[in-house]
Amino acid sequence: MSNTDFMLAVEDLTVSFDGFKAIDKLTLYVDRDELRVIIGPNGAGKTTLLDLVCGKTRATGGSIKFVNREMTGLPEYQIVRAGIGRKFQTPSIYENLSVFQNLAVSFPRGRGVFGALAFKTDATVRQRVADVAAEIGLSDALEREAAQLSHGQKQWLEIGMLLMQEPQLLMLDEPIAGMSVREREQTAELLKRISRGRAVIVIEHDMDFVREIADKVTVMHQGKILAEGSMDHVQNDPRVIDVYLGH
Ligand code: ADP
Ligand code: MG
Repeated sequence: MSNTDFMLAVEDLTVSFDGFKAIDKLTLYVDRDELRVIIGPNGAGKTTLLDLVCGKTRATGGSIKFVNREMTGLPEYQIVRAGIGRKFQTPSIYENLSVFQNLAVSFPRGRGVFGALAFKTDATVRQRVADVAAEIGLSDALEREAAQLSHGQKQWLEIGMLLMQEPQLLMLDEPIAGMSVREREQTAELLKRISRGRAVIVIEHDMDFVREIADKVTVMHQGKILAEGSMDHVQNDPRVIDVYLGH
């Protein structure tokens, strides 16, 4: 297939589980600097799509190109290394470590090498931790134990742990679930901020939040794309109202 200027080019992607096509010849392009929101009814295949892009699930057919490089077939760690970060619904932070330590162990060289933490906290790592902490709004909480953070702050910390690896594509599945109104507002600002210079894909149900953050909305249904465009465009699409927004 042809080269594109897109950061992410998914073409004819298909995955079947025992004959059931959870993703069915799906084509999707995402630009740099774009914040794309994916919506759709339960079971539409939204989470499965992210699982395929990050290599957690293997495609049955089709192509996933990230900056023109084919990702299907690569193991998860190579996809991470290529620059794709994925945040799951439940945060996987180290509760008994400080915010600083959580970020520092996520620095690429330190990842997973727990015992090496002491000599990895050099000036480079400290600078990156400071930059990321500012980006996620936790500069004043660096010495706090992660367990002491609010639910929203834990979610931001996990986003920060992904940012430590400088991903070019960041994917988040329902990032505001369980957050307070104030935390939701701050998360909207955070997501807009981190999409600059990157591409961000967010799966979300809260339509007010989607309207607040989305550059473009993709509506999925039965493993396919039902509609795509601005929030106003998809909200007025009779098929979208029929399968999703009307309920
Ligand atoms: P969404 O995130 O849009 O709610 P999912 O991607 O979680 O939907 O699921 C899409 C469909 O694929 C559902 O019918 C689900 O049961 C099915 N599915 C997802 N993962 C698997 C799997 N590993 N094995 C079998 N079926 C799966
Ligand atoms: Mg899901």
